[in-house]
Amino acid sequence: MEIVDVIVIGSGQGGIPFAVDCAKAGQHVVLFERDTLGGSCVNYGCTPSKAFLAAAHAAGRARQADRLGIHAQVVVDFPAVMERVRGIRTQFNHGVKKRLEDAGVKIVYAEATFSGVRTVTGGAVTVQAPIVVINTGTSSSIPELPGLAETPYLTNRNFFDLQQIPPRLLVIGGGYIAVELGQGMAQLGSKTALIVRGDRLLAQEEADVGSVMAEAFGRDGVGLHFNTQVDRVAHTDGVFTLALDNGKTLEGEALLIATGRKPNTSALNCAATGLALDDRGYVKIDDRFQTTCSGVYAIGDVAKQPAFTHVSWEDYRRLQAILAGGDRNRHDRVLGYAIFTEPQVGRVGMTIEQAHQQGLNNAREVTTQVAATSRGIEWGQDLGFFRMVVDTQTNLILGATLVGYETSELVHIFMALMEAGATWQVLERSVHIHPTFAESLPTLARQLF
Ligand SMILES: Cc1cc2nc3c(=O)[nH]c(=O)nc-3n(C[C@H](O)[C@H](O)[C@H](O)COP(=O)(O)OP(=O)(O)OC[C@H]3O[C@@H](n4cnc5c(N)ncnc54)[C@H](O)[C@@H]3O)c2cc1C
Repeated sequence: MEIVDVIVIGSGQGGIPFAVDCAKAGQHVVLFERDTLGGSCVNYGCTPSKAFLAAAHAAGRARQADRLGIHAQVVVDFPAVMERVRGIRTQFNHGVKKRLEDAGVKIVYAEATFSGVRTVTGGAVTVQAPIVVINTGTSSSIPELPGLAETPYLTNRNFFDLQQIPPRLLVIGGGYIAVELGQGMAQLGSKTALIVRGDRLLAQEEADVGSVMAEAFGRDGVGLHFNTQVDRVAHTDGVFTLALDNGKTLEGEALLIATGRKPNTSALNCAATGLALDDRGYVKIDDRFQTTCSGVYAIGDVAKQPAFTHVSWEDYRRLQAILAGGDRNRHDRVLGYAIFTEPQVGRVGMTIEQAHQQGLNNAREVTTQVAATSRGIEWGQDLGFFRMVVDTQTNLILGATLVGYETSELVHIFMALMEAGATWQVLERSVHIHPTFAESLPTLARQLF
């Protein structure tokens, strides 16, 4: 058994830069990866899904350009769409490999298992180190539905390997993966239906986010089945049949399962190094990413951090600062994220409900509709709203929810203001460019006078 300086398990979004930085600093680093370098983001998540949505949204916008007086006939070359998606994925994947190799990280292509305290075995390699970082991410959680296991269903893992567009797509789930990929396929021409357990899309967001999304999905021709669950799945002669608990039956040539994620910890043999997991199998960490075994840290999705690439990446920076003696923790961040539907959802900080739950009784929200903005009217964008939550005692901005065209960009205005500790008055006195969506944000703040 070899003794090294640092072991990284999983080439996720935090593990890669952590390994690279340590190796560049002259440390002997071993990284284990059981699958494809780059983790979910590069191979089965952000990168392919956003490359896919670039094509899907182009088709969707063209199909809906009638209201601008443009009548387009959309011809989708699906194999070319997916070839481009896979090409970008390969490019990113090769970039990760080069980065690790150039830095001198030793990559072991094997599933890693703890074989002792801070001791890891993968394939024929066993190493021990004073610092072990777990960055093993999550994978699709597959519901136990009668008949499902025997069928060739899709998850985000094999979705991007599709060669032909299914004439009809069934999607189980109403979360961000279901809505992004489901709407995308509808825009490309697949007759798509979503089966949702609850009464709205994006149940973790405010209720009116789900309403806007339902309206948009209606325009894209997506079928929505709320308050229902699948009782049985069958697959015969290339057709999936779903029996729903409301008595309906749905058919499609493809079935996408997007019902949540589960942590990749079952292969780790956590007991061998004294690691505690929570009741759902996530690695337990303290405020400074330390697990229940000294010297073993966990970052990213597997540590139940908010499941986003930028969070996992930022975890690495924080962990590095903590190991260098810095006073950082995993909570001192302004958390923003986006859902890349059409219209998009840009979120940061707290909703009014969350603010009240945290005892901020002076929290207040203001909202304006996209349809009432100059840019919205001129560009034919009538769906969505911009909302800000403030603390009327301190005047600090607590959060924002932006639903509309490319709001994943617009939300950064709020992220920057919040990071700077700005009050809503700073936003109110800002002079934004006419006619932009951003222009309506100082006006939104003026509602607070
Ligand atoms: C369809 C989809 C779309 C998404 N879109 C976005 C988006 O637009 N924006 C965003 O911020 N986030 C998005 N995400 C989430 C994002 O992909 C993750 O939050 C991000 O990848 C961070 O994950 P991570 O660093 O924790 O680990 P991961 O990226 O999941 O990497 C973990 C790695 O560990 C490896 N591994 C696991 N177990 C072992 C083991 N025992 N031994 C060796 N290797 C192991 C895995 O093979 C994997 O390569 C998306 C996710 C999905 C599924």
